[in-house]
Amino acid sequence: MQEYEHTTRIADAAQADDALALLRRVFGYDAFRGQQQAIVDHVVAGGDALVLMPTGGGKSLCYQVPALLREGTGLVVSPLIALMQDQVEALRQLGVRAAYLNSTLDAETARQVERDLLDGQLDLLYVAPERLLTARFLSLLERSAIALFAIDEAHCVSQWGHDFRPEYRELAVLHERWPEVPRIALTATADPPTRREIAERLALGDAQCFLSSFDRPNIRYSVAHKDNPRRQLVDFLASHAGESGIVYCLSRRKVEETAEFLAGRGIAALPYHAGLPADVRAENQRRFLREDGIVMCATIAFGMGIDKPDVRFVAHMDLPKSIEGYYQETGRAGRDGEPAEAWMGYGLGDVVLLRQMIEQGEASEERKALERRKLDQLLGYCESAMCRRQALLAAFGETYVPVGAAEAAPGQRCGNCDNCLQPVRTWDATEAARKALSCAYRTGQRFGAAHLIDVLRGADTEKVRQFRHNELSTYGIGTDLDANAWRSVFRQLVVSGLLEVDAEGHGSLRLGAAARPVLRGESAVHLREEPVRKPGRGGAGERRSESTLHVDASDRPLFDALRAWRGQMAREQNVPAYVIFHDRTLRDIAQLRPASISELARVGGIGGGKLGRYGEGVLDVVREQG
Ligand code: ADP
Ligand code: ZN
Repeated sequence: MQEYEHTTRIADAAQADDALALLRRVFGYDAFRGQQQAIVDHVVAGGDALVLMPTGGGKSLCYQVPALLREGTGLVVSPLIALMQDQVEALRQLGVRAAYLNSTLDAETARQVERDLLDGQLDLLYVAPERLLTARFLSLLERSAIALFAIDEAHCVSQWGHDFRPEYRELAVLHERWPEVPRIALTATADPPTRREIAERLALGDAQCFLSSFDRPNIRYSVAHKDNPRRQLVDFLASHAGESGIVYCLSRRKVEETAEFLAGRGIAALPYHAGLPADVRAENQRRFLREDGIVMCATIAFGMGIDKPDVRFVAHMDLPKSIEGYYQETGRAGRDGEPAEAWMGYGLGDVVLLRQMIEQGEASEERKALERRKLDQLLGYCESAMCRRQALLAAFGETYVPVGAAEAAPGQRCGNCDNCLQPVRTWDATEAARKALSCAYRTGQRFGAAHLIDVLRGADTEKVRQFRHNELSTYGIGTDLDANAWRSVFRQLVVSGLLEVDAEGHGSLRLGAAARPVLRGESAVHLREEPVRKPGRGGAGERRSESTLHVDASDRPLFDALRAWRGQMAREQNVPAYVIFHDRTLRDIAQLRPASISELARVGGIGGGKLGRYGEGVLDVVREQG
């Protein structure tokens, strides 16, 4: 053990410079971020690693740099064949010898890639797991020099997640056949049970675990109750005009309706769900990746491995299934580190629907219990008055520490979520809660919130008359609150367990165990006051510039010209625009207005490869704009 540490430390010293020099030369970045350097050093020295880093944290460099520093080809296992091409293209733009092997290649091209692998002509090779595991490919690997195995989206090995891939289980064979080749497994999945399952299933028990903070400081979180979802969505999108984003919906039908609705309002919206023909799906995804400003309306079938860096917002029109799901989905925003926004609307209807889906699903009782707990945790998050970031990180066992602060102080708030920007007030809702509970009780615990609200507010509906609920003592005792306020009360009573949704999922409400003391006047109920908020803005006033990439007005014309130039380059080569340069890089160029190649080289994100390829073109655009 002692000796091992000694040798790696010496190796570290020698490689630190190399890795950094390579980062600058090839990738054009000044410095490693967070734990990247430590991970790179560990893998270069031959160690196995389990890397847990949030989306946008910079996982790719953790295996790309070691693959370039070590002898042989780095093998990258990825479940997402649709995205390999873009990843490989991005590397080629940097001058890296990269290729991929999957079922989309014709036989001739595939053979060429295999020859390049055997001849040591590849720095990185991306391969789908089912291809990697074929006897033929494994024997090919026996005859090749392998720098490392990178297992991307490693949570696919876990059965608890939504992305389970049986082939991932068989990847343990890599360790058995090539014990001396370092393996690095990476995931953005944060929950501890999944982490443990990865280590176990991939035989990574001896690997060093690199756990990063899961905080995404550039993402602003907000949650709104849905009163008029479409109008709320349109308001939200108005603060993100011309930007790329994802709008998640629960059902395929809603995906299509939402996309149509938005398209009808002149917004470049496209649908994506598993029920669309494969070619439509592929085309919509391609457009989302390659064009600027597409709004993708999608089910959660869309998104895993979408590494488009400039997704500026993720909106949830329906509740996700769990906090982990929510975090993963929102994590697709703002990978480039620039301001981004995660907005979620929810209502009692979501709760009823999700409960119903759980209860009526085919899953085992054990699994259902787990899903119920996950849903409750998410609902608690929605109704929480505390800092959203604190609450999210706490769900992953992490204490929030503000960027730059040495350590956590209790109750530290982030200042970049709805609850921080506009603190929530609570009110003494004991009286309202008693009215609501007794109304549910007196109507026989078999009606949903809508009808109960009608009874409380003394509405004259057919249903009220049919059941003679106008004769009840609770009829008309709730006129002091409007229907919206009552909806908020009912939702919060459900979330806190005072009311329970029936297992059959009709939405009828019955008293929970904790309801008795409240009804008897023995315990008080405090609920959060529903703030009047506009989506897309943290609170009062226009905040657009804070949630989008900030470009000074004086730099705008040049920035737009650079974007147009980039669009042309991307079309000519049939690659996504961000593969050429990120928005942030263009903004920095517009600010700096470089007059020479050496000045241009100072801009972050421009390595030697891109300087040679695009340097003159950029300088031309800068000159033309004067
Ligand atoms: P992940 O796979 O963890 O979601 P990526 O590897 O796609 O993240 O990186 C996210 C973004 O951050 C990319 O746009 C990448 O170019 C950028 N990035 C990663 N590491 C650095 C770094 N050290 N300096 C500057 N930018 C970086
Ligand atoms: Zn906050």
